[in-house]
Amino acid sequence: MQRLLDGIRDFHERVRPRYRERFAHLALGQSPDCLFIACADSRVVPNLFASTDPGDLFVARNVGNVVPPCGAEAGVAAGAAVEFATLVLGVRDVVVCGHSSCGAMRAVLLGDRPDGAPNLDRWLLQVEPSVRRLEREPRLDLALDAEDRLSQAHVLQQIDHLRTYPAVAERVAAGELTLRAWWFDLAHAQVLAHDAESGSFRPLVELMNEASRESHVRPVP
Ligand SMILES: [Zn+2]
Repeated sequence: MQRLLDGIRDFHERVRPRYRERFAHLALGQSPDCLFIACADSRVVPNLFASTDPGDLFVARNVGNVVPPCGAEAGVAAGAAVEFATLVLGVRDVVVCGHSSCGAMRAVLLGDRPDGAPNLDRWLLQVEPSVRRLEREPRLDLALDAEDRLSQAHVLQQIDHLRTYPAVAERVAAGELTLRAWWFDLAHAQVLAHDAESGSFRPLVELMNEASRESHVRPVP
């Protein structure tokens, strides 16, 4: 807790002056252009690795970056974030960002869960379709360990779940919304994105460089 309190003091004394004007403007309303769905893991910090400012990202985080299919009984909060971001905020992009060494994936693969956590047990049932999805994604990087491959397959499965929301499907069909499957590699502090051509996740910066060379051929994933 002391680290958190020290951080608040540091923000107040050192950082706040730089952001006062921006926050005063943001107090009037928000217009982020991206919904960013990530794991609640403390090591995944979207605002840091995407160099974003307050007001840039509408962030929804939960254990295992789960997006339930539309209408599913579990995960209503995550579904509400999808609907709010698309219908109210009118975001242009939705990113689902998994990460390496994800405890939720490990818990599902190894059954490694604490006793007396019925809510966590129920929540993690939502990862089961991703276990089956992994069998259908043979092009994911075989050099990764099983939990990391599951985490990447899980991101792809959540993208499919996003498409079950009418607000998402309609906007994607109209070219007004792009769905992006990303994955944060903790050990290398690097964002990867799913490359449909290779069927694997590759460094996003590499893909951006390729896209800028062949701008009319390949969009940035
Ligand atoms: Zn995680």
